[in-house]
Amino acid sequence: MSTKPQVPVLEGWFTEQDGKAFLLGTRCCGCGTYYFPRLSTYCKNPACDSEKFEEVPLSRTGKVWSFTNACYEPPEPFVAAKPFVPYTIAAVELDKEKMIVLGQVVEGVNVSDLKAGMEMELVVATLNEDETTVKTVWKWQPVVTGGAN
Ligand SMILES: [Zn+2]
Repeated sequence: MSTKPQVPVLEGWFTEQDGKAFLLGTRCCGCGTYYFPRLSTYCKNPACDSEKFEEVPLSRTGKVWSFTNACYEPPEPFVAAKPFVPYTIAAVELDKEKMIVLGQVVEGVNVSDLKAGMEMELVVATLNEDETTVKTVWKWQPVVTGGAN
């Protein structure tokens, strides 16, 4: 990878620690509900009146819940590389939080490679780069379990 500084294309949505990618969500201090994208106004749990949230890294693994081909440019905040090339999107249920998080699937993985329940992990991938910076975004990548392939 280049030596340019890497900048997340969406500030504050994910972080990297020890080369591993984590999505950043918030957890309600009152009832413990997780939110992604982050929520910091008031809890959506009708039984909870907390307005306090802590920022937490979410599970970086989960299972495919559904997936599709995206043949059109995604709406904000999902950002497509330019020039636009069709890519695969997966909705992944996080192992611990049981939330569905949408993301692009890493290059080279097509709809025919995915199936519901497949283990996925979060990686940080280059979205695009300009003269000064490399823009990064999170993507889902099938967990390689080894064995025959
Ligand atoms: Zn709450």
